[in-house]
Amino acid sequence: MRLSQMLFVTLRDDPADAEIPSHKLLLRAGYIRRIGSGVYAYLPLMWRVLQKVSQIVREEMNATGAQECLLPQLQPAELWQESGRWDTYTKAEGIMFSLVDRREQQLGLGPTHEEVITTVARDMIRSYRQLPVHLYQIQTKFRDEIRPRFGLMRGREFIMKDGYSFHADEESLQKTYQEMYTAYSHILRRSGLAFRAVEADSGAIGGSGSTEFMVLADAGEDEVLYTQDGKYAANVEKAVSLPAEAEISPFTTFEKRETPGTDTIEKLCIFLKCSPTQVVKNVLYQTVYDNGLTVLVLISIRGDQEINEVKLQNELTKLAPQFSAKTILTLIVPNAETQATWQAKSLPLGYISPDISDDYIAVNKQVNSQFVRLVDKTAVELKNFVTGANESGFHVVGANWGEQFILPKITIDIRKAKLGDRSLHDPNQSLQTARGIEAGHIFQLGTKYSQAMGATYTNEQGEEKPLVMGCYGVGVSRLAQSAVEQSYDKDGIIWPIAIAPYHAIITIPNIKDAQQIAVAEKLYTELNKAGVETLLDDRDERAGVKFKDADLIGIPFRIVTGRAITNGKVEIVKRATRESQEIAIEEVVNTLQQWIRYAIAS
Ligand code: ATP
Ligand code: MG
Repeated sequence: MRLSQMLFVTLRDDPADAEIPSHKLLLRAGYIRRIGSGVYAYLPLMWRVLQKVSQIVREEMNATGAQECLLPQLQPAELWQESGRWDTYTKAEGIMFSLVDRREQQLGLGPTHEEVITTVARDMIRSYRQLPVHLYQIQTKFRDEIRPRFGLMRGREFIMKDGYSFHADEESLQKTYQEMYTAYSHILRRSGLAFRAVEADSGAIGGSGSTEFMVLADAGEDEVLYTQDGKYAANVEKAVSLPAEAEISPFTTFEKRETPGTDTIEKLCIFLKCSPTQVVKNVLYQTVYDNGLTVLVLISIRGDQEINEVKLQNELTKLAPQFSAKTILTLIVPNAETQATWQAKSLPLGYISPDISDDYIAVNKQVNSQFVRLVDKTAVELKNFVTGANESGFHVVGANWGEQFILPKITIDIRKAKLGDRSLHDPNQSLQTARGIEAGHIFQLGTKYSQAMGATYTNEQGEEKPLVMGCYGVGVSRLAQSAVEQSYDKDGIIWPIAIAPYHAIITIPNIKDAQQIAVAEKLYTELNKAGVETLLDDRDERAGVKFKDADLIGIPFRIVTGRAITNGKVEIVKRATRESQEIAIEEVVNTLQQWIRYAIAS
């Protein structure tokens, strides 16, 4: 492609609305244009990158025996009602764009395709002989994200590869899951990215095990906890660990103490001269289930620990059937205003004890009359602890479970694992932290969707069984941008060769010099013919401007038809290292072919 014929516009300054380097660079270098909130045009250079990433994904998927297809983006609401996700996706998370057509039928724009593929499987899979089978597609997804940001990283319209596998049993699912683990590792490695596979929470998609593939970058929205020995790595949402040991409590007898102005753990510990590890703090949450019922939740946890809201949300979802509900719609720490909607009398905030009376909840059909009481493992183990006295300005010290307080029935691990915690697999290893961009996520779904939607097959014994499912997603557009986030310098993008829009750019320093043009034209033709994807900067611009643009758009090799041509040579500059060398004109094609082959293979 000739730059003189391209829609090629670069910006000198950082666009105002871009926060992270990759977003700024893709805008400045003319790869993308913002059309609306979380909605972008992929301009020709970007489209080439996206096609390269898609091709790598396609090759790795096909190699596992998965088959490409294309599923509809317009999805009837009934399918989502059958799976039980319509309300979660349109109301609770609100992530699905929904619409009503002219026949008054409700539809959603596909944020993901479990429902569609399960219907296909229900209709077409009859026998164990058809299993396992794995279909995938590469397609635009729609999600009404609360905070679309960082360009393609979190868009409302983005490109995803999503695949779904169907199996007769768990064992077969495990096998495909492992193959996907390997395929995803290959995809990221081939795309030139540094990444880490981590244990992950399965979220609203549901199911049991899942692994996320994190591209390591400071701008990543996710936190990863891992050990140096490489044996443990998890998203902080999912991570487990051993907390620091609690200090031994100095309070050997139970008593109530006046502790004025100590409504935070920090103030309390200064006042009592004790460690937060000797305190049981009681944290109040308020959740609303999908049947409209409000439930108050009280969590007792060691004073130095924080609550992991993803674990809490999962626990409350598990409890849903107990309240004749399917799922939760909201989960918040209630402020004064929301408390006023259900409390019978004013709560002693900051001084609540694990046994605070249910009488604080006013009688109301819409509100569960009792607190759901949960206790974190860290609090269960404490002896002679400090906790609230249910009276403003007072705490108790030297308290014990089974003596002054009844241990809540539900004991769970609900704490947030953090940097420096000891690892469960080897307490000598402490957890390290890194930031990551989630580029891919693979799930073992089990029978969640097949059971809800009646997708069954007949096994060898002639029995009807629900299909066992897995699903596997890669954010193609997010992955492409994360490559930039991992690889740039002050002058612009440094694309990994495997996904660069072009391999090489020929810069003609002086467009008035006929000899320069002749050499450039010849190389341009020969290189492209030889499969070295090459741009020709034949614009009537100063050499400096052209060099700047070439650096900004990040093409791996720049060929300059400058002074050296009088000696039958051109200068080749490697974008990543800025290494420059003169190469005989007739050697250029060979040399570049070799370099590219080497880079893509390693
Ligand atoms: P996140 O936690 O970042 O919202 P997710 O868990 O919702 O991601 P999945 O539903 O597993 O994501 O989707 C599969 C892949 O699609 C993700 O790993 C990610 O790479 C990509 N993806 C998800 N949401 C977006 C988005 N809004 N914009 C761009 N890519 C996305
Ligand atoms: Mg999401």
